[in-house]
Amino acid sequence: MIEDKNQQRTALSDLGEFGLIDHLTKHFQITQKSTVKGIGDDAAVLDFKSKQIVVTTDLLVEHVHFDLSYMPLKHLGYKAIMVNLSDVYAMNATATQVTIAIAVSNRFPLEAIEELYTGFEAAAHMYGVDIVGGDTTSSTTGLIISVTAIGEVDKKDVVYRSGAKPNDLLVVTGDLGAAYMGFQVLQREKEVFKVNPNNQPDLDPYTYIVERQLKPEARKDIVKLLKDLQVKPTSMIDISDGLSSEIIHLCKQSDVGAELYENKIPLDPQVISTCEEFNLDSTTIALNGGEDYELLMTISQEDFPKIKGNPNLTVIGYMTEKEKGMHLVTRGETLVPLIAKGWNALKDQ
Ligand code: ADP
Ligand code: MG
Repeated sequence: MIEDKNQQRTALSDLGEFGLIDHLTKHFQITQKSTVKGIGDDAAVLDFKSKQIVVTTDLLVEHVHFDLSYMPLKHLGYKAIMVNLSDVYAMNATATQVTIAIAVSNRFPLEAIEELYTGFEAAAHMYGVDIVGGDTTSSTTGLIISVTAIGEVDKKDVVYRSGAKPNDLLVVTGDLGAAYMGFQVLQREKEVFKVNPNNQPDLDPYTYIVERQLKPEARKDIVKLLKDLQVKPTSMIDISDGLSSEIIHLCKQSDVGAELYENKIPLDPQVISTCEEFNLDSTTIALNGGEDYELLMTISQEDFPKIKGNPNLTVIGYMTEKEKGMHLVTRGETLVPLIAKGWNALKDQ
């Protein structure tokens, strides 16, 4: 499968903790005005003037959240940043800085950690955020990565999960289910590889879904798009666990119900064909698959003309009074209650 072809192995012990931090971070650039002091002191110093600050952290643990047998370290670094930036954008904020903490065992040579940092840096560069600090320690078991992202937002622009009102439109960005199906394909190839290591997988028919699993992109563009369209969502959340559980979050925190239309859920053709191949129901995958990192929001009906026809935004339902509950309206027009099945639950089935 995807193997580290880099034969050079420099033991981490050759550098020591401070040598390693210096080696990995000495060339980092500062681009954000709000970064007063980045790496190198006891703490970073940031100045946001009159803005509100959003802060979010995610922890990624080897064997729980990722599997290095098919996840190249570069992609893992990139994804670790994306997962966090996605939470910042879900507040309708601009991401400005990240800190990165890693716990590594001696089984990783310096070259592997460099790969990981190539991913961190690529993501930070692409999304215009500064890496302003972190922590480095050893681990006796697997690799652990914790990223904290910081963002800024004008007080009037912050969007919470709690603002949805009955009759608001339920809107989603991009398409759903691809990351989960990419995961299914990679898992299958891993099993094949175990049996026959010479078998090179043909991932060509699955490029989009595999990329969505290995290299997700957080929707920075949507925060800008909404600003350009002059639409402020009434509530918003990022889709990390699957559409169903995120709708439930919005409903619970906003004290409303929702109707989601099965025939409106955006699916890529590759998701549909791969679901057929795996004998899985594509609606179930979109509802429970997770790791899509799209944004789910509610917007007021009067903003509909502003988003109508926009290829990035799909209306998939609407919010109701709380008493009506939370339902999927199937293609056959039956109402099925929405239930929260995180993608981890699904994985264990
Ligand atoms: P302290 O002992 O005060 O925790 P460290 O020696 O751990 O300081 O860190 C020195 C500097 O390097 C700090 O600015 C810290 O934020 C930064 N740093 C440490 N580890 C990392 C890392 N893995 N990635 C980025 N910056 C790091
Ligand atoms: Mg430290």
